[in-house]
Amino acid sequence: MYCNACGKVIAEDGRYCSHCGNVVGMPPVPKKLMRSRTDRKIGGVCAGLAQYLDLDVSLVRILWFFVALVSGIFPGVVAYVLGWIIIPEESDLRPVVASQQPVAS
Ligand SMILES: [Zn+2]
Repeated sequence: MYCNACGKVIAEDGRYCSHCGNVVGMPPVPKKLMRSRTDRKIGGVCAGLAQYLDLDVSLVRILWFFVALVSGIFPGVVAYVLGWIIIPEESDLRPVVASQQPVAS
């Protein structure tokens, strides 16, 4: 990979050029709570939560299960379904463009 400011070779996974300090590649994407498309068991809520919190998916699922169990199953299920409805599904890896439907006025 080459720095696009000074043209020197830099580390493939580097985010900054070690020669001129230029930021290379994509700017870091701000973390958003999204349901995972790729790693889902039901709605991807746990996987999305795990990604957001930088935790292991299995750990989140176990925690979720445990909390649901302790709270009498129902609240946990309701919380999951709410998360399913409220948390947006992560988009494809394609760049996100404003692809809103034209609104009829
Ligand atoms: Zn550079």
